Amino acid sequence: GAAVVGSTVIPIVNKLQDIFAQLGSSSTIDLPQVAVVGSQSSGKSSVLEALVGRDFLPRGSDICTRRPLVLQLVHSPRRPDGAQGDGDEWGEFLHIPGHRFYDFREIRREIQAETDKEAGENKGVSDKQIRLKIFSPNVLNITLVDLPGITKVPVGDQPSDIEARIRTMILSYIKHKTCIILAVSPANADLANSDALQMARIADPDGSRTIGVITKLDIMDRGTDARNFLLGNVIPLRLGYVGVVNRSQQDINMNRSIKDALAYEESFFRNQPVYHGLSHCCGVPQLAKKLNQILVQHIRAVLPGLKSRVSAQLTAVAKELAQYGDVVESKAGQGAKLLNILAKYCEAFSSMVEGKNEELSTA
Ligand code: GDP
Ligand code: MG
Repeated sequence: GAAVVGSTVIPIVNKLQDIFAQLGSSSTIDLPQVAVVGSQSSGKSSVLEALVGRDFLPRGSDICTRRPLVLQLVHSPRRPDGAQGDGDEWGEFLHIPGHRFYDFREIRREIQAETDKEAGENKGVSDKQIRLKIFSPNVLNITLVDLPGITKVPVGDQPSDIEARIRTMILSYIKHKTCIILAVSPANADLANSDALQMARIADPDGSRTIGVITKLDIMDRGTDARNFLLGNVIPLRLGYVGVVNRSQQDINMNRSIKDALAYEESFFRNQPVYHGLSHCCGVPQLAKKLNQILVQHIRAVLPGLKSRVSAQLTAVAKELAQYGDVVESKAGQGAKLLNILAKYCEAFSSMVEGKNEELSTA
């Protein structure tokens, strides 16, 4: 089960989108993109993987992400026989059309091979995207972008202006007003030196779409903690911070699963008195919750326009239907039925957000 998904938001938004798809309608809810920014090895790929809940991104202590990876999560209905397991979730690359990857380790190998092909085998970086779709019943239709991290000293085949090039590449994604920025900073470095927060501030000066993510809380210098970071006492951020503990390099070498990692993270926060009372900003599930709240706000903002388009369509279909007279099973009749259901879902959704916003997200 993916963590990016809220228990209530997901089914309703997905239902809306399924109905739109059935209608062949062009109007739909375009969810914002989410991009991760930060310095190399700050834990960006680890954060994305934890959010998706599957292992498939190259991660490591060296430069791993060397091309932008545009990861489109596509909600696809569960198989009708109710069967779970491999058959329900798969990945597909734009550069290998029609080939379904059911084994997520193979997805990682393909990302690595495709990176080498474009950016060379010696640490080169390219701004040419890799596009991957993940189909699953457990996800929202949302696009996540994994970006190369900021590096200062050129290594391998990297050009002397590597830092400027990577910054330009990152900005080209996060400058868009609809992009939610996950600004990832490791807790074992000085937050005031954070490349992530610096880049985010350039693209989003008033901080209305930047979430601060503090990684590596488990390997801070003994006697220090991230409490003041998380509370925004060091660098305030409107949407606040979430602290996370992802898998260490040793965990990766030992193939520790995401499930184990999440359990470890939970016990970490439970056993550190310094983080007690901060549960709202600790852990990957809280990050998912924060993202969800932003998505809900976005949907709330676009919903009125959507509703008026739906009712216009409804009127048009009703007129068409009147001309058909008694033909009940006509396409128009089915369309009208769907539109009615859709209108109901829109209603349900807006009354839900207007009512208890908090309750919509993952616990
Ligand atoms: P990226 O370059 O920003 O995408 O960073 P990665 O996700 O590839 O992670 C870089 C390295 O840091 C890997 O070896 C990870 O195992 C490690 N790492 C990431 N997050 C954490 C964390 O919260 N705790 C610990 N101990 N290691 C982490
Ligand atoms: Mg990475």
